[in-house]
Amino acid sequence: MWRKYSRKNYLFSHNKTSLPIQNQLCDPLFFYKSSFLRYLKKISILFVLVSALFGCGIRTQIPPPEVPQEPRPFNQLTIAAIGDIMVHGAQLTSAWDVENDTYDFEPVFSTAKDFLSAADLTIGNLETTLPGRKKLYAGYPRFGTPDALVTAIHGAGIDILTTANNHSCDTGKRGVVQTIKVLDEYNILHVGTYRNKSEYEANRILMVERNYIRLALLSYTYGLNDMPIPKGTHVNLIDKQQMTEDIALAREQFPDFIIVLIHYGKEYERYPDQFQKEIVAFLFNEGVDIVLGSHPHVVQPFVLRQVTDKYGDTKPRLVIYSLGNFVSNQRDRYRDGGIIFKFILQKNYTTNKSITRNITNIHYIPTWVYVHRTADKNQFYILPIPKYLKNDQPLHLPEDAYQKMLTFYKDTQLHLLSSPIQIKQEMKIPLPKEE
Ligand SMILES: [Zn+2]
Repeated sequence: MWRKYSRKNYLFSHNKTSLPIQNQLCDPLFFYKSSFLRYLKKISILFVLVSALFGCGIRTQIPPPEVPQEPRPFNQLTIAAIGDIMVHGAQLTSAWDVENDTYDFEPVFSTAKDFLSAADLTIGNLETTLPGRKKLYAGYPRFGTPDALVTAIHGAGIDILTTANNHSCDTGKRGVVQTIKVLDEYNILHVGTYRNKSEYEANRILMVERNYIRLALLSYTYGLNDMPIPKGTHVNLIDKQQMTEDIALAREQFPDFIIVLIHYGKEYERYPDQFQKEIVAFLFNEGVDIVLGSHPHVVQPFVLRQVTDKYGDTKPRLVIYSLGNFVSNQRDRYRDGGIIFKFILQKNYTTNKSITRNITNIHYIPTWVYVHRTADKNQFYILPIPKYLKNDQPLHLPEDAYQKMLTFYKDTQLHLLSSPIQIKQEMKIPLPKEE
């Protein structure tokens, strides 16, 4: 029963490589080491069994994180967040190997892979479905993508995906169900959509622990493009009452940080609208530490600000209103790229055994989607721009593409300069000189 209820909720590991779930359960750090905590574990197993009998499901408690007897160096976790992972028709065609009738998206992510896998945890928005049936493969407006996309996402080092967005139900029940099945097969953690009620009850809060830092992740979307939620499945919609309940539930699991992935806002608007600001203020008041936004398909500013929540806790809280397009075939100005938004979560044990938690080293890497055009094929690549600024990489950009990349870079840098936080020194890359 413990395994059943804890299977997706408590994934404990201490390195970037996701262990298979069974191995994670065998990880010696999965269960706490002291005999007292082993006693707590037994009690909690008993509690889980009793809860399961009475249908309490997720409302089980786990012991709080271990507090070391001796002070030790601080623990930290590097997070990288990326925006919308979209697959338009042109990208499907590009990934298709006509002769073998197979798909390959790995080249698309190959140029960004080192930047994504450098973080301890990389989080993105899967803005398509994986119906596993060729006739359902399509671009806008009803996205259906081959499983090969997940092979590439996994290979690029993306660990967590939100599946709640306005395209969650584009391929009906099959899409909702198959998407989760495929992500599970690749050990990619996910939050936001669920195959059935029991999985929703068990997994509505994604708990992840790495480097002794425990995160609670939640995800919501403003809507579903008028597609109905397929019968029996569940998609998390923005609903303040539900969010209040979920966040309160998350707090019971002793997270060091609560992160909400939210899909909202007006498309192509470069600044957050009133609704976005209101939802973020609401989430902070409920006790959320970090909000990662997506959907506008352009980058919107980020803010780190001191907020006192309804529990009386005053601390810096971080929002990026929109992360932009990580990959898509939107080629217009502002829409043809995004950012890898990075920050470090720290948890420090002070000598009196109290714990302080910080969000530090907030910075970003602008990325731009390049379409390499040849007679045979158009190949998409996600370019972390600083690496390509000199255009001295083996993948050499023609002048028109290079200028478009520079435009996106300048636009993004100037736009985010208004974000009131300190940019990490090494990311202060000077703007290219005007010709
Ligand atoms: Zn969207």
